[in-house]
Amino acid sequence: MLVDSHCHLDHDDFDADRAAVISRAHAAGVRRIVVPATHAANWTRLQRLCTARENIFAAYGLHPCFMQHHSDADLELLERVLTRPDTAVAVGEIGLDRVLPNPDESSQIAQLKLFDAQLHLARAHALPVIVHARGAVEAVIHAIRRVGNLNGVVHCYSGSLEQARQLIDLGFMLSFGGAITYSRAHRIRKLVRQLPLDAILLETDSPDQPDSEHKGQRNEPAHLLSVFNVLCELRTESSDTIAQRCYANTTRLFNLPQ
Ligand SMILES: [Zn+2]
Repeated sequence: MLVDSHCHLDHDDFDADRAAVISRAHAAGVRRIVVPATHAANWTRLQRLCTARENIFAAYGLHPCFMQHHSDADLELLERVLTRPDTAVAVGEIGLDRVLPNPDESSQIAQLKLFDAQLHLARAHALPVIVHARGAVEAVIHAIRRVGNLNGVVHCYSGSLEQARQLIDLGFMLSFGGAITYSRAHRIRKLVRQLPLDAILLETDSPDQPDSEHKGQRNEPAHLLSVFNVLCELRTESSDTIAQRCYANTTRLFNLPQ
């Protein structure tokens, strides 16, 4: 049994065949899916998607790549959404992106302000966070340390081993997806061998980030199996142990039913 800890199943790309995508995931052993939000306009459809199915879980947050969609009112709305019982398993997807085209100084300041506000909301509601840290792992570590008393996951982790250790000490896990399936990805594959298994989550980041077998195609949660198989090749533990521990890590982090 596997969990896709990061899948944008509410994305328009799945509108035509979402039910089939979910069935294929189930058939591939992907029994649970965590769906992080990107912007407030999608929260209602996300909630509908997750309340209709018991194994699909929602996180709510304002993504740093969607800055032009966010308003101050969205933060107040987020607070209200998080106050509703049994709605969110995490605050996400939130974070910093320093790879976006023209990340000028004012947009970096706005991203950091929004990230900081959402970290405080997560702490206040005792929820884990799902963090996007593209080109910004160091700045993310600073923000997490500054706010304190948090836990969560840095998704599609691409930082160093030393930064991973700092994040683990701060109560964080690291999530890996299609990137580790590319044989040229020496640095990230080496890192995945060195990390403690208790700090690793699996994800697809569907519909983005396809693995090497599905390069150029729309990604979907069933493809988590390819990521899992590569993780098993890279690690020394048995595939059963890896599956069980990654499942337990996700369940523990997001406080999912056992
Ligand atoms: Zn994402």
